[in-house]
Amino acid sequence: MSSCERIEKCPFFNDQMANMPATSVLYKHRYCKGENSRCARLHVLEEAGPEAVPGDLFPNQWERAAEIIERRRGA
Ligand code: SF4
Repeated sequence: MSSCERIEKCPFFNDQMANMPATSVLYKHRYCKGENSRCARLHVLEEAGPEAVPGDLFPNQWERAAEIIERRRGA
């Protein structure tokens, strides 16, 4: 486990997203400074490119991430 390579620029980690969840501190600890390979944002970025990552996608939204990647593959 290590800090995410996107941590300096990531809008989630830097509190730049609207409607940050109350659990954001927990998520930052769990994903950004831990299991970043399980982060939904990072998953979409790696599979579909940075432009495919919605501004309001949170690290725990795996199902939404999978749908986005599916759509991009089917496009
Ligand atoms: S939200 Fe995801 S992409 Fe952003 S810093 Fe955390 S682990 Fe990395």
